[in-house]
Amino acid sequence: MASKQQNRTTIWVFGDQLNSSLGPLATSDPQDSTILMVESKEHLGRRPWHRQRAHLIVTSMRRFARELERNGFVVDYQVASSYRAGLGAHCKEFEPTKVIAMSPSSHSGRHFVASLGVELEPDERFLTSVEEFETLFSGKKRVTMETFYRWQRRRLGYLMDGDEPVTGRWNYDEENRQSLPKSGVAFPEPIVDELDDLDRSVLEQLPASLVGAEPVGLWPTSRSAALERLRHAIDDVLPQFGPYEDAMTTKSWHLAHTLLSPALNLGLLHPSEVADAIEVAYRSGAVPIASAEGLLRQIIGWREFVWCLYWSQGTSYLESNELDATRPLPPLFSGTSTEMNCMSTVLADVEAYGWTHHIPRLMVLGNLALLAGIEPRALMDWMWERFVDGAEWVMAPNVLGMALYADGGVMATKPYAAGGAYIDKMSDFCQDCTFDREVRTGERACPFTTLYWDFIARHTDRFERNPRIARQVAASKKLSDLEDVRARARQVLDRLDQGKL
Ligand code: SF4
Repeated sequence: MASKQQNRTTIWVFGDQLNSSLGPLATSDPQDSTILMVESKEHLGRRPWHRQRAHLIVTSMRRFARELERNGFVVDYQVASSYRAGLGAHCKEFEPTKVIAMSPSSHSGRHFVASLGVELEPDERFLTSVEEFETLFSGKKRVTMETFYRWQRRRLGYLMDGDEPVTGRWNYDEENRQSLPKSGVAFPEPIVDELDDLDRSVLEQLPASLVGAEPVGLWPTSRSAALERLRHAIDDVLPQFGPYEDAMTTKSWHLAHTLLSPALNLGLLHPSEVADAIEVAYRSGAVPIASAEGLLRQIIGWREFVWCLYWSQGTSYLESNELDATRPLPPLFSGTSTEMNCMSTVLADVEAYGWTHHIPRLMVLGNLALLAGIEPRALMDWMWERFVDGAEWVMAPNVLGMALYADGGVMATKPYAAGGAYIDKMSDFCQDCTFDREVRTGERACPFTTLYWDFIARHTDRFERNPRIARQVAASKKLSDLEDVRARARQVLDRLDQGKL
C-alpha cells in the first residue's frame, strides 16, 4: 500500500516502459515524484490474449513496481477497471501537481493519454527518432530497409571500420539462409526460470478469456532476468545464429534465435545494450561476422525501421487493404486441427510458447493468409494477441506491410508469396505431410502450392510489371492446367473456411 504523498509530480509508467534509465524516471528523485502504474482489467479482458503474454506483462509490471519501491519511490500500483479509472483514483488520492509519462507506443495510446491531460515526453526505448527517419527519406521515392540499415551502421558505428563495414561487406543474407542438414543440428536450450509466488499469484488473477499454454518461466519478467538472457544469447546462442536463422524444423521451436524480443519490447533491455554486446563478441573473436551482422541487422535495422515506419505512416496505415482481401480468419487459427504439417507445427509452437521466429511468421502464417486473401486486420490482431512480443507498432508494418502486401509496397518491394517448394527447402515440415508440395491439383495437392499459383493468376495485372515477381507471373500464364488449379483453389479455400483442411 503506497503511503500518501500529495502535491508532487506523478510519473505514469506503462507496461512496456519498464526501465529506470529511460524517460522521466531516469532524472526523477524519489523525494519529489510519485510513480503511478495501472493494470487495466478492461485491457486485459478485451481480447483473447495469449496467457504467457498477459502473464509476462503483468508480472513484469509488478516486479518493476517492487524494484522502484526498493529504490525509494512511492509507487501507486492501481489494479483498476480501466486506465482512465486508475488515473482518476490516483489523482483523487495523491492530488499531483502534474502527471507526466514517456509517450505510449501506439497512435491510440498517445492520443488517449494526452486527452487525459498527461504531459508526454519522448520515447527513449529506440535508437532512432521518427524525425531522423523522415529526414533520411525526405524527397526519396521510397523507403528501403537496406538504405536505413547502412545509415544506422554508419551513424551508430557498429561493426564498422571508419565509414565502411568492418569486413567490406554489408550483408550476409546468402550465408545466413541455409537449410538444416539432414543429420540435424543441436541448438542451445533456452534459460527457464522457476515460477515464484508472484508468478503464481498473477496466474490466479488473470481473466478466464485468455488462450494458450501456461507459462513455464521462459520469458524474463525482471531486468536482472533479462540481462541473464542477454548474456546467454550472446555467449551461447549467437555463435550459431547466422547460418540457420531462416530455417524451420519440427525438432526445435527456437533453433539458434536469441528470444530477446519480449524483453526489448517491454523496455527490460535497450537495443543499444544488445548492439554493444554484439560488437564486443565479434571484436573478441567469439562470434563469426555472418552471425554478428545477422543479429545486428535485426536489432538496429528491422526493429528500428518498423518502429519509424509505423509512426511515419500514420493511422490510415492500419486500415490498409491494397489487395482487397476480405476472408475471415479461418478456424485453424482458433485451434481447429489441420492436416497441413507446416501450419499445425507453427500453430502448436504459438500455442505452447507465444512465439515463433520471423520465417514461420512470414512464410507460413502470413503466407497462407496472403494466398488465401485473409482480411489484413484479422491476421494482424490475431498475431498481436498471440505473440509474447506483439505490439501494434511492430505488427502493423510486419503483418500488413511485409506479410500481406496490404500497404501496396511501402514496406516490401514484392509480395512474400511462396508455394510448398520454399517451405520444403527451409524446413522438414513437408516430409511427414498428407499433402505433396510438388502437386498443385487433386486431393494430394499442397494447399500452399495450389493457392500460390491461384494468387499469382488472380493478381496478374497488378504484378506483371513488378520486376521482382514478373517471372512468376509469366510462368503462371503458361500453366496448361490453370483452370484445374483454380478449381482446386476454390475447394481448398472452402475447406479452409469450414475448418476442414
Ligand atoms: Fe505445408 Fe504443403 Fe509442405 Fe504440407 S506439403 S507441410 S501443406 S508446404
